[in-house]
Amino acid sequence: MSGTAHATVTFDGRFAREFQEMAIPWRAEEVPEPHLLVLNEHLAAELGLDPAFLRSPEGLRLLTGNAVPAQASPVAQAYAGHQFGWYAPRLGDGRALLLGEIGHADGQLRDVHLKGSGRTPFARNGDGQAVVGPMLREYIVSEAMHALHIPTTRSLAVVGTGRSVQRETLLPGAILTRVASSHLRVGSFQYARSTGDIGLLRRLADYALTRHHRAAAEASNSYLALFQGVISAQASLVAKWMLVGFVHGVMNTDNMTISGETIDYGPCAFMEGFDPAAVYSSIDESGRYAYRNQPVVAEWNLARLAESLLPLLHDDEEQAVELAVEALGEFRRQYSEAWSAGMRAKLGFRDGLDDDVTSPLVDELVALMQESRTDYTSFFRHLGKAARGQADDARHQVPGTAGFDAWLGRWRALAPDADAMDRVNPVYIPRNHLVEEALTAATGGNLDPLARLLDAVAAPFDERSGLERYAAAAPESFGPYRTFCGT
Ligand code: AMP
Ligand code: MG
Repeated sequence: MSGTAHATVTFDGRFAREFQEMAIPWRAEEVPEPHLLVLNEHLAAELGLDPAFLRSPEGLRLLTGNAVPAQASPVAQAYAGHQFGWYAPRLGDGRALLLGEIGHADGQLRDVHLKGSGRTPFARNGDGQAVVGPMLREYIVSEAMHALHIPTTRSLAVVGTGRSVQRETLLPGAILTRVASSHLRVGSFQYARSTGDIGLLRRLADYALTRHHRAAAEASNSYLALFQGVISAQASLVAKWMLVGFVHGVMNTDNMTISGETIDYGPCAFMEGFDPAAVYSSIDESGRYAYRNQPVVAEWNLARLAESLLPLLHDDEEQAVELAVEALGEFRRQYSEAWSAGMRAKLGFRDGLDDDVTSPLVDELVALMQESRTDYTSFFRHLGKAARGQADDARHQVPGTAGFDAWLGRWRALAPDADAMDRVNPVYIPRNHLVEEALTAATGGNLDPLARLLDAVAAPFDERSGLERYAAAAPESFGPYRTFCGT
């Protein structure tokens, strides 16, 4: 292949080589008119990819899978998964391909993966396509999550294909290039387990250990340590989601990673008015994946991972179950600890304060927010101002102020650290109406609102004048928000 960038960046095909049982060699569909919609130059540099090259016609052929670098061998990965509680034994990449692994500046490998690259043998009834709106949504939200210090897959680029894709209407097609610590999912282990090939299961676990949980590999029972590592990573991750008001929307086991990165931004949304029952996905009729259920669902998914790993945990099944149950018991404790620590930080509590003092304050505040459906994001930021003595903005958000004033008095008596609060309470999140505005404009060919929104959410803690509308709640006219999957 021509082009200097390829001489310096080597794609490995490690998963493709080592897991032939779970990887179908496949090629992307030919893209008629590739055109770049957005490129993540910072991430490109971290991966040793030259942004100028990626913008070139040959670079676009790489980002659409239409040119395959020398050592790469693109594959569709197999995985299973529980979708809304129902087991699907064979999901896999229906419209995606793993191009291969490349080195990141931090010394670790990253998967480079294309979403929307055409039908694969896992496509079932799907058309293999993705459209501009949802791919840009994943780009915006994943990059916002990264800026919020929440582990996530990253987005390198979105390329328009020039193809029209049939959804409710005809929409422009696009391909997202996703970068992840790996694409190992709970569903990958469910798939390996279901083959009955314990050798494959063990190799997959070894691969997960080397890519994500290196320290666990040294443990006397390394597979138990792997499970414990995933539990800790997910407890920490879901606590972070809850602390920023993020609703994933489709926490199926195939959408939960072994690395602890957030993956698969389909029907996700950030909550505005605080509501523990918040659910945005149009297909989540029972509210299975509602905001407040996320920790419980994560634990349920981890139990499915435990079932898959059982043969590796102990030769005796009863003892294996005992080990798994004991390990899983840690999830709640770790989640609660992570959430409480995060909440203490959001409220600016200084070290050494007694839990008996801080916990009731947290609980009462959550109850007040729920009662007044306070805008979750701006309220914490306004509390930062209240810590500096300007309580009006926060007070306006909680009608019937008597209870809140009493709360404020007790909280301020603890001398909350306003600067520390501003470092953890974001000003800018990808608010649903702003995301929709950017996606609608981009679908119509105007990329300016996208660029402005990305600029705001890329530095979420850094309040800037001129960006006021990016910090404000949706206008009343925006109405109840609904999101859609698989688009
Ligand atoms: P998701 O809801 O994005 O996690 O996808 C669930 C499953 O459906 C995965 O196996 C996807 O590869 C597959 N899928 C989603 N959309 C399509 C599509 N348009 N064509 C083929 N497969 C799809
Ligand atoms: Mg998925």
